[in-house]
Order: sequence, then C-alpha cells, then structure tokens
Amino acid sequence: MRIPLEPASGVPLYRQLERWFADAIRSGALPLGSRLPSTRGLAADLGVSRVTVTTAFAELEGSGLVVAAVGSGTRVAPVLPTVAARPNPRPVAAAAPAPAAEAWVDAWAGRPGGPGLIAFTGVGDPAAYPVVEFGRTLRQVLAREGAAALSYAPHPAGDPSLRRTVTQLLASQGIGVPPESVLITSGSQQALALVCQVLVRPGDTVVVEEPTYDLALRLLTSVGANLVGVPVDDHGMRVEQLAEVLPGSKLLYVTPNFQNPTGATLSAARRRALLDLARTHDVPVFEDDFAGDLRYSGRATPAIKSLDDGGRVLYAGTFSKLLMPGLRIGYLVAEGAIRGRLVEAKQVTDLGTSLLLQRALDRFVTVGRYQANLRRTTRLYRERRDVLKQALETHLPDARFTVPAGGLFTWVTLPPGTRADELLVAARDRGVDLASGERFYRNPDDGLSHIRLNFAVQPPGKISEGITRLAAAVEHLRGR
Ligand code: PMP
Repeated sequence: MRIPLEPASGVPLYRQLERWFADAIRSGALPLGSRLPSTRGLAADLGVSRVTVTTAFAELEGSGLVVAAVGSGTRVAPVLPTVAARPNPRPVAAAAPAPAAEAWVDAWAGRPGGPGLIAFTGVGDPAAYPVVEFGRTLRQVLAREGAAALSYAPHPAGDPSLRRTVTQLLASQGIGVPPESVLITSGSQQALALVCQVLVRPGDTVVVEEPTYDLALRLLTSVGANLVGVPVDDHGMRVEQLAEVLPGSKLLYVTPNFQNPTGATLSAARRRALLDLARTHDVPVFEDDFAGDLRYSGRATPAIKSLDDGGRVLYAGTFSKLLMPGLRIGYLVAEGAIRGRLVEAKQVTDLGTSLLLQRALDRFVTVGRYQANLRRTTRLYRERRDVLKQALETHLPDARFTVPAGGLFTWVTLPPGTRADELLVAARDRGVDLASGERFYRNPDDGLSHIRLNFAVQPPGKISEGITRLAAAVEHLRGR
C-alpha cells in the first residue's frame, strides 16, 4: 500500500496513518467490510514500527470506522458512524499529567494557535500501549470463559493462574516463591497501601529514601507515619546512614531499581548491607520494583527479595510501567504470618482485583505478547533516554543530570540560582510540563534545585524541542 507519511511534519506517524485510512474509508476508496492489510505487513511496507500501525488501527476502531475480529484481522465497518461513535481519547501528550497539573494542561490544550504541549510527566507513552492486541485478548477471554470472567474474583488474593504466571516472571529474576505467596493487587500503589494498613499505625516511624516517589510520601503521610529520610546518591540509598535511623522503625520503603525520581539503582553491596541491617533490627522492607524489567544498559542487580531467606522483604511489582497503567494490576510477594492479614485487607478493601483483567493479562503473558511488547517498549524508551541526554548536554550544559540504566526518569540538578518552582512556571508558559523536585521531599524546599523529567512519554523530536524550550525558560529566569 502506498501511503505518504511525513516523519518531519510534527504529526505523529500513527496519526497520519489513521487520517489516511479514515479519509480512504469515508471517501469509499476502501469499501465497507473490506479487509485492511495485516499490521505486520503494513509496518514492513511503510518502514514504521508495528506499534505505529496497531495504534492507528486502534484509533480507527475507537471511532467506529473499522472492526477487529478475532482471527480474521481488521475490516472496514459494515456501517459507518455519522458522528464519532465513542468519545475521542485524550490527546497523547496530555494523557497522564500529574494531578496538580491537570487544570494547567487542560487550559494549555484550549489555547488557540500556540505551540503544542510537551509533557515530561506521566508514565509510559500511550502510543506504545498494545491497544489492539490487548483488545483481542480480552475478546478471546470473554469468548472462552463467558460470564465466569465477569464475576467477582473467587480468590481475593488473585486468580490462581495469574499468580502462577507471576511466579514464573519472578523466578526469572531469582525470586523463587510459590503462587500462594503472591497477592494480586490493583497496582503496586495498593500493595503499599495494604502493607500500611496492616503494619503502620499513626506515629510509627517509616524510613524512606530522600528524595522518593511522591505518592508513597503522600500515602505514608496520610496514615500518620513519622517519616525519616535517608539520602540517595548515584548508587541509591546511602545505606551506611541506615544503622542510625532503622532501630525501632516499623517499615523501610525502598525503590532499588531506576528510582523514582532520581533514576538511581541501588548497588548490590548496598542491597546486602540493607538486608543485614533490616535483619539486625527486625524491620520489614517494602521493595518497590516498579520498573525493574525496563532496563536499557548494564546488568540486572539481584532483587533484595532474592537475597531474603527470612520472609522479611515484601516485594511489589506492577504491570503499569511495563505494559500500561490503566490495567491497575500489580502484585505483592509476602511470606509468613503477614500474608493472611494482607489477603484479608485486600478482600475488605475491594473484594479482589477485576477478574476479567486478571484473566486477560494472564493470557497476554502466557502467549508471549507481554514479552514482545516489553522488548519493543525497551527499545523505544532506551532511544528516548539517549535523545534526552544529548538534548540536555547541548541545550543545558550547566545542569547536571542522571543517565539511568532503566526506568523512566532523569533527575536534573539545575544550574546554580535556578529554582525549580519558578522554572516550572516559566516552562509551562512555554508549553513544557515537568515535575518540580519539591514533591519528592518531606520538606519541599529541599527539592528546589531539582526537576524530574520523564523521557519515555515523548517521541525524540518532541524531546529535543521540549529541552530547547526548557533552556529558553532557564535563560529567561537568569535574565530577570
Ligand atoms: N511505585 C513507584 C516508584 C511509582 O513510580 C509508581 C507509579 N508511578 C507506583 C509505585 C504505583 O504504580 P501502580 O500502582 O500503577 O503500580
């Protein structure tokens, strides 16, 4: 098929493809009911990634112009909608802003004629979500299992088959646990919330990295924890400072891989030292491995859980970053007496995670689609990490920044005299969103010389343009 695509036009390729097909369908060039080419074949013909084609097809399906049928590919719909059949999805760039930024993002989107929004916030790139493939999997599950897949989950701890599948993923990281030790949760956020519910009472001390993931800070604060911070450097939490603060604590919260927000990975030696201290002082560890499989360089460091022989480590993983956050499926590995209390907490909280989604995810993983998607996503995000590095070196030579071995985040230390809160305002004036460092610290002022950039969300051209605009915002602040 000859479809003219213009990579330099600024319009995403999937959008150009979608428009081309929409025009061809509406003009009758592609007759009702006719078959579209296979995504694989079309991607090869056009020299674009398969994700580009599947995303374009998913958009067409969303607007009712095509239908995807199990086993027989995608066809032009038998009847065309006169108006959009379903509400349009939100624009890609604005798909996952931080809550506080939502009003601003909406206001920006409403500005006529201005430059487009470039958000270095959110999770992964929605254009990489396997919309069509996951849709197919969902339909297959419904066809095979019918109403059973739409019932309450009979096992509040999670679908037994998915729990088995998760143990296989864990085994490949050296974490050998039986399926009974795996609790399926609604994202790893819920895993932490359940652990708080069971272990943390108001006034209890919880040790966290500083800086750390903002919504863990907010969750721990909401349950009344007394938070104690241990600084993070290029090798993760400075574990040598733990010995002072750990005694008497109720929990140690740590994100050892590609930390949010710094991107740092906790060294193997520090992982061992951390676990030794937790043993000595009898403190449970919550290991938040939110993006462990999104690795772009270097070799994997053993999970703290893989070194744990006493059931002291509660290990949380999630499919949010590796697949898509809207699934809301994560898991918590818990051994020993605490397990039953966590399952009870899960049941009384939400009666179990959506069975349909658990069944679909299980199938998606067992037939290898998850792994294929992860490989594609890793390639995509690695390139973006490198493009961001290049752009920062070129346009912000006075800033220091991390180049993480995986994950989503680069942590930027601003040039002296530039404040993150002021930069956020100046950057938004230029249509760039980012996370100011303040939200990752117990005391927000401690984060004023940092910003966090998510490099995974934007395509390379947008990353470069966004950093050019950011550099202009820094210059503006300097010149005042
Ligand atoms: N942990 C970290 C470090 C995160 O960054 C996030 C989400 N951004 C989560 C946990 C929660 O993710 P989810 O509930 O979607 O698994």
